[in-house]
Amino acid sequence: MESHPVISFDNTEFAFEYKGNKDLKKARFLFSAMGQAWMVKIGTRITPWAIRVGLPVKGLIRQTIFQQFVGGETLAQTAVVARKLGEYNVKVILDYGVEGGDDGEKGFDHSTDEFIRVIDYASSQPNIPFMSIKVTGFARFSLLEKLDRMMSSGTETLMKRFLRSVDELSPEEKEEWHRVRHRMMRICETAASKNIGVLVDAEETWIQDPVDALTILMMDTFNKEKCVVYNTIQHYRHDRLKFLKDSHEAAVSRNFILGAKLVRGAYMEKERRYAEEHNQPSPIQPDKASSDRDYNEGVEFCITHLDRIALIVASHNEHSNLLAAQLIGQKGIAANHPHIHFSQLYGMSDNITFNLAHAGFSVSKYLPFGPIEDVIPYLMRRAQENTSVKGQTGRELALIEKELKRRKKG
Ligand SMILES: Cc1cc2nc3c(=O)[nH]c(=O)nc-3n(C[C@H](O)[C@H](O)[C@H](O)COP(=O)(O)OP(=O)(O)OC[C@H]3O[C@@H](n4cnc5c(N)ncnc54)[C@H](O)[C@@H]3O)c2cc1C
Repeated sequence: MESHPVISFDNTEFAFEYKGNKDLKKARFLFSAMGQAWMVKIGTRITPWAIRVGLPVKGLIRQTIFQQFVGGETLAQTAVVARKLGEYNVKVILDYGVEGGDDGEKGFDHSTDEFIRVIDYASSQPNIPFMSIKVTGFARFSLLEKLDRMMSSGTETLMKRFLRSVDELSPEEKEEWHRVRHRMMRICETAASKNIGVLVDAEETWIQDPVDALTILMMDTFNKEKCVVYNTIQHYRHDRLKFLKDSHEAAVSRNFILGAKLVRGAYMEKERRYAEEHNQPSPIQPDKASSDRDYNEGVEFCITHLDRIALIVASHNEHSNLLAAQLIGQKGIAANHPHIHFSQLYGMSDNITFNLAHAGFSVSKYLPFGPIEDVIPYLMRRAQENTSVKGQTGRELALIEKELKRRKKG
């Protein structure tokens, strides 16, 4: 039996050791501002527009929300943050922040080259075992949408519906899809040879089926000996616990390791709006408690099948992280088991990340980087999810206040 230290997320000294007083006060100011719903509402509407029309707002963004949630504008700037985290045994998931710009074939090739550059860089560093990708970074959104629509009919398995739908595309679209697959292959091949894990982000439900199918194909190719490719499973969807179990079944029958990054999901409002506008039933769980229940059940399922599943607990929910850590302890699994990893977004929930690292668990910060205009959608999502003083912002503020008080006393 492995022995495990009792884990708690209350220690703010560990949580903020890497931040000086000045940075901590800056974070307090930012989270207080984000707690003002009206400010976030206006900010998230005006900012993307201000950037588009070229108003001089970049300096302000860079000094505030960008600095809190993003590693830097370039890989070199981001490396400084990554090294700092490494000093505290915190690893990094590097995320090149481009999102579904429908940039055309040239843009998609460029993004693919960037992803490969990130893998090369990560492999040269001691604490960057993963990088993340978005399929919309190198595939036309409307092509994914079309494939998803075609896949929605029929009762066969996901892979069968996928292969049939690709077959039914026009010759030009088939060529285009072939290029998407080729880009994904290039990324995964490089990652496999450099020993870097590729986390495929989950996006909107109306493009997710082909993203899942493509990711499973890659897992079937690259995850035979070790886990290179990870899919993301959003438990705010009511059908995903079954999907997780189906994916596990596919992994057993095809003899590959299932990489499963478990999240609750980031596009809830957008999903509900889309379903309403399209007169479709919502794919989202009826309430938060149902998302929590499925998430925790998913965590337990993965920990019970670690022989076949490599799990990433990607969450800021203290209860889910604690549950995972406790289950690992109860089952006598080593805290540093290669199939268990935890991750939180850079700039959030440092109390979870740094206390997990302190207790010997493998844990990372999801660290986006890129030019300000490219990471704006990511930043707007962060601002929106931090608006509620009752929720995440309240937690962050309370922890920061606690640490500032402790330092003052000390
Ligand atoms: C490392 C990392 C990687 C991530 N990658 C992705 C990704 O690829 N794709 C993606 O979509 N998200 C991703 N996320 C974001 C994630 O999905 C969540 O939005 C975010 O982490 C908040 O959920 P939580 O588990 O931290 O905890 P909590 O704060 O406990 O949960 C909040 C979440 O619960 C769900 N929820 C809230 N209210 C309701 C309700 N009324 N009904 C049903 N569900 C509700 C929503 O998903 C909401 O975001 C990632 C997060 C992390 C930490």
